Amino acid sequence: MNLKLINSNVNAILRGFQDMTLPIDIEKIAKARGVEIVPFPMTDGVSGMLAIQEGKATIGYNQSEGKLRSRFTIAHELGHYELHKDKSHLFVDKQFIYRSQSSGDTPDKKVMEQEANYFASAILMPTSLLRREIDKIDIDLRSEEAIDKLARIFQVSPTAMTVRISSLGLL
Ligand SMILES: [Zn+2]
Repeated sequence: MNLKLINSNVNAILRGFQDMTLPIDIEKIAKARGVEIVPFPMTDGVSGMLAIQEGKATIGYNQSEGKLRSRFTIAHELGHYELHKDKSHLFVDKQFIYRSQSSGDTPDKKVMEQEANYFASAILMPTSLLRREIDKIDIDLRSEEAIDKLARIFQVSPTAMTVRISSLGLL
């Protein structure tokens, strides 16, 4: 997984998007990238999908999964769009994105899923804004209180926040 490439991709998108108030408005960003967002009453454990038809991209997300999960799903699918649209025109994601990938996945597919998760995490919790908020709260980052507070500010799950903070080496 090429973290540098994903980070520069995310930074370019955020630079083009002036509104940097928190939480990051992921639907607005996706729409500004020309992607349509559609809530679906999805079944069969599907969280989200990206479909590209005749150059037109649509993200569908499972509306029954709650706001935080939906935000992460939309960001994950936008990651597939920005990073992988040359490789496939259809991505279907099952629930529990953070669960280790299902055994049937090819190595290529596993990398794409990791990349889309990393993209989602980086765009919902931009490094500079995360560092700023961490400085502001001034609570021990290893405490549940700090993680919960940051998760609320960025509107992500505490699990997603913990993964982000540790991947940035801030813990
Ligand atoms: Zn995916």
